[in-house]
Amino acid sequence: METPVAKPEWTLLIHGGAGVMRRAEMTPDMDAAYRAGLNDALEAGSKVLASGGLAVDAVEAAVRVLEDNPNFNAGRGAVLTREGVAELDASIMDGRDRKAGAVAQVRTVKNPIRAARMVMEATGRVMFAGEAVDEMAAKAGLEIVPPEYFVTQRRQDALKRAMAGKWEPMDRHGTVGAVAMDKAGNLAAATSTGGLNAKPPGRVGDSPVIGAGTYAENASCAVSATGDGEHFIRASVARMICARVAMQGMSAEQAAKATLDEVAALGGAGGVIVLGHDGGVALSMNTEGMFRGRADASGVRKVGIYADE
Ligand code: ASP
Repeated sequence: METPVAKPEWTLLIHGGAGVMRRAEMTPDMDAAYRAGLNDALEAGSKVLASGGLAVDAVEAAVRVLEDNPNFNAGRGAVLTREGVAELDASIMDGRDRKAGAVAQVRTVKNPIRAARMVMEATGRVMFAGEAVDEMAAKAGLEIVPPEYFVTQRRQDALKRAMAGKWEPMDRHGTVGAVAMDKAGNLAAATSTGGLNAKPPGRVGDSPVIGAGTYAENASCAVSATGDGEHFIRASVARMICARVAMQGMSAEQAAKATLDEVAALGGAGGVIVLGHDGGVALSMNTEGMFRGRADASGVRKVGIYADE
C-alpha cells in the first residue's frame, strides 16, 4: 500500500484491529467475510467524502459500519470482560479545531462512536465514563440496546478459552478505526473497541484516550491505533506520530514506524493507520497482520489482512 505521488482529492483509511488469526486457521469463508466487512466500511466513508462531506462525518460513518459487524471487536461482537459483559470504549477527533470526544465503559449504546461524537459536540467536555454515558446517550436520543445485544457466541467461546489459559492470537484483542482527509483538506480520526478479551471490569485501554489511540490535527496528521492498549498509552502513540510529522518533518510512514518501534521496545504490539497533512499514508503494524483498507478519490480501493499483502 504505497504512498501516492499526487495527493488525491480525498482519502480514507480504516482498520479492523491487529488481532489477526494465524493464516493457517483462516477459512476462505472467514477471509471473505472480513474483507466484505472492510469494504462495507470503506463504502460508507467514501460516500461521505466523495459527495464533499466532512472528514469527521466520514470516519464516524466507517466506524459505525464496523461496530455493527459482529466479526470485529467493537459494538456488536465486542470481546467480553472476565464477567462476560461488553464494556465499550470509543473516541473521535476533528482535525479542524482539535475538538474531541471520548467514552469509556459504555454498556448499552448501540454505536459507542455516536456517543463519543455526542460528547464532542454537546457537552463542552472531552471524556465521560460509565453509566453516565449510557444515561446521557439515551436522553440525547441515541439508539439504546440491551447489554446482551453485544454478546456473540464466538466471544463467549473466546472468553472461556482465555479463562482456561488457552489463548488464541485472534481471541486477545482487536479494535476498529478510521482516518480521513476530506476535499477541503480537513483531517479526522475515530476509534472504537471492546478492548481486551477477559479484561478485568473497569479496565480502559488506549482507544478512548486522545493522544494514545486517536488523534487528528489538520496541520500534522490523523491517527487511529490498535494493539496492546497499556503500551500505546505509555508511548502516547497517536500524538507522538503527529508530533514527529509536525516537528521532525517525518513522513506518515516514518513517524508510524519510529513510534511502533517505541511500543515494541516497551514490549507491546499492534498497528496504526496514519494520514499526513501532505496526503502521505501509513498502514503499519508490528504484528502478523492488521485488518485494514484504503480508498481515495483516484479510485484506489484496497483491503488487506496480513502484513505481507
Ligand atoms: N487497543 C485496544 C485496547 O487496548 C485493543 C486492541 O486494539 O487490540 O483496548
